[in-house]
Amino acid sequence: MTINATLINLYHVCPRECWLHANGINMEHTSDTVYDGKMLHETSYPQRNDKHSELSIEAKYKDIDLYGKIDFYDARQKIIHETKRSDKVEKAHEWQVKFYLWLLRLNGVEEPTATLEYPLLRHTDLVELSEEDIEQLQTVIENIVQLRQAKQCPPVINAKICKSCSYYELCYVGED
Ligand code: SF4
Repeated sequence: MTINATLINLYHVCPRECWLHANGINMEHTSDTVYDGKMLHETSYPQRNDKHSELSIEAKYKDIDLYGKIDFYDARQKIIHETKRSDKVEKAHEWQVKFYLWLLRLNGVEEPTATLEYPLLRHTDLVELSEEDIEQLQTVIENIVQLRQAKQCPPVINAKICKSCSYYELCYVGED
């Protein structure tokens, strides 16, 4: 199977959502938990569009295929710009970006960095990748492979985020 950045993100949001997505159960509209920030980035930082390019990147970890699509990558500075619509800073976003950094490292890019930008919050974080982060990503990837193979879908998490999740009806239909 291929592990992509969406699965890395979802794993940190909700294991059930990760399982559903990994098993090809997709709802029609896009989940708010994984928002493609490309449009937001283009409107928030229009001056960047010339200097940055979209990058599809692949690698292998053990026998697992890894894939990511970076919307804005400055190859000269070796820096990723990831933009999120969210009105709160989330660990899931950080791990998604760390996954991109690892993919770059696996493709021979030395010491890439990233900025994680929240235009609605006027907040930017610098993201770097440590050796501990790589070990953590390897564990997460192995966990996602196992999670996907599980026969049973993980239980609902009854969290605030469920209300804006595309699987809400599937998860809570029939409940009061
Ligand atoms: S509705 Fe909640 S429990 Fe269901 S997949 Fe979404 S986040 Fe997970």
